[in-house]
Order: sequence, then structure tokens, then C-alpha cells
Amino acid sequence: MNIHEYQAKALLREFGVAVPRGVAILKASDADLATDELGGPVWVVKSQIHAGGRGKGKFKEASAGDKGGVRVTKSSSEVNQFVKQMLGATLVTEQTGPAGKQVNRLYIEEGSEIDKEFYLSILVDRETSEVSFVVSTEGGVNIEEVAHKTPEKIVTFSVDPATGIMGHHGRTVAKALGLSGDLAKQAGKLVAQLYTAFVAKDMAMLEINPLVVTKHGDLRVLDAKVSFDDNALYRHPDVVALRDETEEDAKEIEASKYDLNYITLDGTIGCMVNGAGLAMATMDIIKLYGLAPANFLDVGGGADKNKVTAAFKIITADPNVKGILINIFGGIMKCDIIAEGVVAAVKEVGLKVPLVVRLEGTNVEAGKKIIADAGLNVVAGDNLDDSAQKIVKAVKGA
Ligand code: ADP
Ligand code: MG
Repeated sequence: MNIHEYQAKALLREFGVAVPRGVAILKASDADLATDELGGPVWVVKSQIHAGGRGKGKFKEASAGDKGGVRVTKSSSEVNQFVKQMLGATLVTEQTGPAGKQVNRLYIEEGSEIDKEFYLSILVDRETSEVSFVVSTEGGVNIEEVAHKTPEKIVTFSVDPATGIMGHHGRTVAKALGLSGDLAKQAGKLVAQLYTAFVAKDMAMLEINPLVVTKHGDLRVLDAKVSFDDNALYRHPDVVALRDETEEDAKEIEASKYDLNYITLDGTIGCMVNGAGLAMATMDIIKLYGLAPANFLDVGGGADKNKVTAAFKIITADPNVKGILINIFGGIMKCDIIAEGVVAAVKEVGLKVPLVVRLEGTNVEAGKKIIADAGLNVVAGDNLDDSAQKIVKAVKGA
């Protein structure tokens, strides 16, 4: 789960992290209150969307102006003007895709006088199974590009969970960023605070880009992007409360209500599969035969008729889906249950695209009979290979 920058900053503040003061607003009429409260002399108006690259982003609407999604100004009336321009407009950045994201919240923040911009992130390194830091002097820019062109400018290390964060970690960060004296001390403190926050809140990633040194000699977190480990959310109702569903894919929200593992992708073949491994294999084979999956969907081992019907509805409601491949191995899950769910769903929502069903395993004959008896326009697949070829052919031929 992701949260907005202003929420991430408020959360980090609880752990003592130095972040600029700011006020989040949902409507333009609150802009004056925010500017008054912050007092200036410099304000920054920041679009709050779950995507980075906002500063260099462009709004779709000409009326929103061409100053990007993060705007610095010394005039409170200009703050007002920016707020009116940006709220409700659609911001396109490197990370939003061409459709962009509507800006429904703004964060008005006190401006910092920036001397240097750094990069710092924390994530779980799957190789070492430890929490790792990534630090670079090249902040404020695309870190993937830095990693590609000048990998020597990136310093990484991981933290042994048995010892937790130690003094030498802070010194490593200070050295990597070329900080000494009081700034090195600030870095040590910050590194410890961030690590504590990361572990306490079960974060999956914490990215600060940029981390800045101000002209007054302060180390400050100027941007913060946080995502949480979904499997640990049950321990953090305070984090769950920060969820902004308008930022999430409606289909994925619907799927989560039925406990389905669903992720929207950009292909045209809707997939309904049980088991993550089989789902991956199904997606691979669709690609092998020349098309791409419209989603990842694992209905899980214990799916019942309701779950299957819900899953089918989510797939058919997606206008990008031009064909559906159902690939079920009946182990714990029985093929006849799946078949009943499919038939119920087709009868309820109709079927406008080709559907190939491949069933194998427990009660497979009963399952096939249910589908055959229902008289639906369904193509039976004999095995995975055959099924993938059939659905690709049906869609390409259509
Ligand atoms: P994004 O990464 O989505 O573009 P950032 O929050 O990193 O958004 O903002 C982009 C740039 O705007 C930063 O690299 C920084 O130069 C500037 N900026 C952001 N917040 C402030 C602030 N409070 N004061 C001064 N400049 C800021
Ligand atoms: Mg940034």
C-alpha cells in the first residue's frame, strides 16, 4: 500500500525526523489558511498523487499552466492561483503513464533554501534478507539513471537485524554524502530515525529524493515516498486509515474485497487461474504465443462459487479484455465448483469476448459437463499449450 507525500512526512515526524512544515488541502478555499499558517516567505505547492516525477510533470489542461506539479513561489496570491489551477487537473509524469493522475489534494509547504540535493532510500533486500540503505550524492534526479550511468556514485549497505542500526551506519551515510561536523551528526541521527520508522511501521520502501542540505546547514527530508508491506497491514490500523482509494485501481480494490490476488496489467487476455505459479506460467505462455495478459489473477486454493463469480465479473468489466483464459488445476479447489462459478457469472454478466476454459484435476469430468450443459459459447482447452494457442487465435482472429 502506498501513501501520499504529506502523509509520509507526518508519519516520519512522529519519529523525530526533520521535515518542513506544511498543510494539506482538499479545496481551494483552504489555501489562504495554509499560507497564513506557514507564514512564508517562500511557499511550495505540491501535487499529491501516488507517483513521482511531479516536479517535471505536465498537466493535461492548458488552464493549469506549464509550471509542473511542484511550484515554488514567494507570493501568497500566486499560491492561491496555483491551487486553483492544479486542483482537479490531471498531472502526467514519468511514473503515471500517459493517462496521468487527477490531483485531488495539494500540500502547501514552507520553502527550503537548497544547497545540495541527495538521494536516500531504505528497502528490504531480498538477497541478504536485511533492511538496506541506498545513498547517493546525486539527488533530485532519476536514480535509475544514476545507477545505470554512474554506479560508483551509489553506496549501499544493509543492517544486521540482530544489532539494528549502529553508529557506523550513520558514519557510512555521512561519508557517502561528503558530510562532516554537525551535518554528519545530523545524518547519524536521521539514519537511526528512518530505520526505526521503517521497521516499526513495516514499510516495504522509504525513498527520500531529495534529502537536502539547506543554506542554513540543516539536513532535511524534502520529498518522501513510502510503501508498506501489505501482509503486515493488519498490525497497523493507523496506516490503513491513510489509504486513498481514489489513487488505486478500482478493479484491484474490488478484488481485495473478495480476497483475490489481482493485479491489472496492460495486455488483452483476461486470466483466471488458481495458484500464483500457475498464473505466472499462464501469463508466460500467452506472451509466448504473441499476446499479453490483461491481469494477474490467482483466485486462491479455497475459492468458492462467489469468489469465482466476483473474479469473472472483474475481468469482464475491463474494456481492455478481448478474450479470457480460465486455467484451473483442481487440487484443493474442485473443478465443478469453478465451472458453476463460471456459468453463474456468464449468465449474470453475459459474455462478449471469446472464452477458453481449461480444467484439470479433482472432479474435472463433472466440471466439463456443467460447462457443456450450460450451452455457453465456451471453447474447451485440452492442456495449457493448446488453451493458450486457442485464446490467442480467437482474439487475433476477432
Ligand atoms: P517529485 O520527486 O515528485 O518531482 P519533489 O518533492 O522531489 O517531487 O519535488 C521536486 C523538486 O522540487 C525537488 O527536487 C526540489 O528541488 C523542489 N522542492 C520540493 N519541495 C521543496 C521545498 N519544500 N522547498 C524548496 N524546494 C522544494
Ligand atoms: Mg522527489
